Amino acid sequence: MDKNDKIYIAGHRGLVGSAIVRKLEAEGFTNIIKRTRKELDLVNQAAVTEFFATEKPDYVFLAAAKVGGINANDIYPGDFIYQNLQIQNNIISNAKEVGVKKLLFLGSSCIYPKLSKQPMKEEYLLTGTLEPTNEPYAIAKIAGIKMCQSYNKQYGTNFISVMPTNLFGFNDNFDLEKSHVLPALLRKIYEAKKNNQSTVTVWGTGKPRREFLFVDDLADAVYFLMQNYDEDEIVNIGTGEDIMISELAELIKKVIGFEGEIVYDASKPDGTPRKLLDVSKLNGLGWKADTSLEDGIRKTFEWFQANLP
Ligand code: GDP
Repeated sequence: MDKNDKIYIAGHRGLVGSAIVRKLEAEGFTNIIKRTRKELDLVNQAAVTEFFATEKPDYVFLAAAKVGGINANDIYPGDFIYQNLQIQNNIISNAKEVGVKKLLFLGSSCIYPKLSKQPMKEEYLLTGTLEPTNEPYAIAKIAGIKMCQSYNKQYGTNFISVMPTNLFGFNDNFDLEKSHVLPALLRKIYEAKKNNQSTVTVWGTGKPRREFLFVDDLADAVYFLMQNYDEDEIVNIGTGEDIMISELAELIKKVIGFEGEIVYDASKPDGTPRKLLDVSKLNGLGWKADTSLEDGIRKTFEWFQANLP
């Protein structure tokens, strides 16, 4: 990518897209195309076709998606499968139509089977049944991977797919009902401290294990892969380390300085027991995550305090 190439970042206001914008701006890119949802509804095929025909970007980062935590996936499965399929179909097909040089599609670690061997290697895709709490979302993401691969095969495009682990950072969704676990606990524990509560409730048993990657590291990895990876096969992006949800809650308690107790609501779902990515492929290509979980949480907490009322 040249510094004045036209680069479209779909989903530039979200957790991932905004981190990619920060990274590209820091690297000196000057021709970044952004559209808010109001300006361009990515679910609308005609609107996306017109946008691509007019703008003809050189490169595309496909970071736009309908996303949410375990509860949101449970309440809105129809929206998750429909909107994600629409958004990715519209963008990928039109990128091909106008000759985009390279596109990077962001998937998710939930594409792997529920009871996959751990850590999860790229080749475990489609080797078992998915986790039911996010199956519609995962099916859409798997369709996106297959779409990129099929277009490469049939039309000779250069569309790559990456699978990030659970992400967190600036511009995340901190809604208590719909967000992922890390921003939810950050907010719950912050509010508990502010309101002098003696306890904080964490969903599930606290026993599931999850891997967390600070989104600025993710942006660094996708920038690296956009320049150094041109294969069909998906690439995992993570740290290669996971922790129990109960340990995550303790770490956030420590960062925020909350002294109350954590209680568990086992009536809420745990989801998949473990979701750890094997990142040896990415490490072998020459990239490693470098922000510790505690540092990432500290930075995110500072952002949260500065940006939310
Ligand atoms: P998942 O990784 O797709 O399962 O999505 P989440 O990030 O929503 O949930 C991860 C784990 O954290 C699950 O076991 C949840 O039950 C647990 N968890 C504990 N407290 C919370 C909470 O307040 N919000 C969310 N979203 N998950 C929580």
